[in-house]
Amino acid sequence: ESGRGLGSGGLALLGLVPGAPRCPHGPALLFVKTNQGREEGRRFYACSACRDRKDCNFFQWEDEKVSETRLAVREEYNRNHQPSFTHRQNVERYKDFVLLPFSKRRFCQECQQLLLPVEWEKHSAHQFLCDISTTQLKSPSQLLYPLKNKKTNAQYLFADRSCQFLLDLIIGLGFRRVLCVGTPRLHEMIQSKASQEDFRIRSLLLDIDFRYSQFYTEDEFCHYNMFNHYFFGGEAAHETCRKFLYQDNGERVIMVTDPPFGGLVEALASSFKKLMAMWKETEKGGHNNQEMPMFWIFPYFFESRILEFFPSFSMMDYQVDYDNHALYKHGKTGRRQSPVRIFTNLTPSMIVLPVEEGYRFCAICQRYVSSGNQHCEICNSCTSKDGRRWKHCVLCKKCVKPSWFHCNSCNCCALQNHTCEKTDAGCFVCGKAGHKRSTCPSLSHT
Ligand code: SAH
Ligand code: ZN
Ligand code: ZN
Ligand code: ZN
Ligand code: ZN
Repeated sequence: ESGRGLGSGGLALLGLVPGAPRCPHGPALLFVKTNQGREEGRRFYACSACRDRKDCNFFQWEDEKVSETRLAVREEYNRNHQPSFTHRQNVERYKDFVLLPFSKRRFCQECQQLLLPVEWEKHSAHQFLCDISTTQLKSPSQLLYPLKNKKTNAQYLFADRSCQFLLDLIIGLGFRRVLCVGTPRLHEMIQSKASQEDFRIRSLLLDIDFRYSQFYTEDEFCHYNMFNHYFFGGEAAHETCRKFLYQDNGERVIMVTDPPFGGLVEALASSFKKLMAMWKETEKGGHNNQEMPMFWIFPYFFESRILEFFPSFSMMDYQVDYDNHALYKHGKTGRRQSPVRIFTNLTPSMIVLPVEEGYRFCAICQRYVSSGNQHCEICNSCTSKDGRRWKHCVLCKKCVKPSWFHCNSCNCCALQNHTCEKTDAGCFVCGKAGHKRSTCPSLSHT
């Protein structure tokens, strides 16, 4: 078995290296198997975007000699695995589509494609929707079904409440441009408001889901892979992004991203740093030592991983809710707590969380916290990560989850029924020793 199952324990990402071979998703990433924290075995390249070989089975040993013939076959394969229409063609198709009377506006659910009358025949055996309204065209995230592939591209769409909260927050903070990286629903909310009067806020969506190119122009959407910072549209798309980041007449920019959680944090961080660098370069020296403002939406148990790459970030207590995620949304009976949070490089006290939802301001920590998050006198901070009240352990010298107990053989707090198993390699999720990813205490609620 060659090294698939990327991101699982025992595999280390070496990153994006110059001259890496390409799959249909852009340059592949270099990986190596590890054992007890040490590299073991041959290094290999694998697809950056797909962690399921069903979606992209690209694989190549680092030191493998690839023949000219195989290279040619690969190039041919990469070309054939591009979408059937280009973005430009899709934009033209859209123009034709909106000229059709409602009775002729069809959307093929199987192909996830807007159909022009000449194409009906070809899709006659497919399920389709009729009378596509302007409202439907303005909310593609409702029209398209969320991609469900567990490993590669699961799409979890913001609940309206959370999306509205994010947008209000962004506007309240004075931003006028939003770079939406993997946040189609936020983009859509901004786009539909942008068409209203006195709403001067613009957004650009970067996403790997090419279906969105049917609904947005090249200035509104770029086909982009956030694991290798690859613009499928080449230099022109790069330039679109660069232009968008250029803050003329003081229109401040913020980037909002909500990547797939199974993703490799280091690959994401490296792409986001490149986007930040792009922002910095747009105005030579104009930003002084500032960073592009950013909201990175991710589960709280990745806090230490994110801070490793972005020490200026802090985690907000706000619980981001999703429409189609059974675990992560507000239930009718007893609220199911979402583990998803906002990480930001903005000053925490500026991120005002809704008091009606129980958040309060902690004057000592100078930030808004969950109602259950008690300020610990010993730690001198509001220590809860999951919204429940945490308790202080004098032996660990820190606050821990309410369900944890101090274990003398592990010399730390853990769930009562944990197995005292020492492993040298740290856990993939929290980085701590003593357990593997599968038994990580921070994942215990899911
Ligand atoms: N909550 C967001 C959606 C987050 S789901 C919203 O409602 O707007 C994750 C998003 O990241 C999806 O839109 C998905 O298409 C996108 N995505 C997944 N893998 C990606 C990749 N490699 N590069 C860029 N975008 C990706
Ligand atoms: Zn079809
Ligand atoms: Zn404490
Ligand atoms: Zn303890
Ligand atoms: Zn133990």
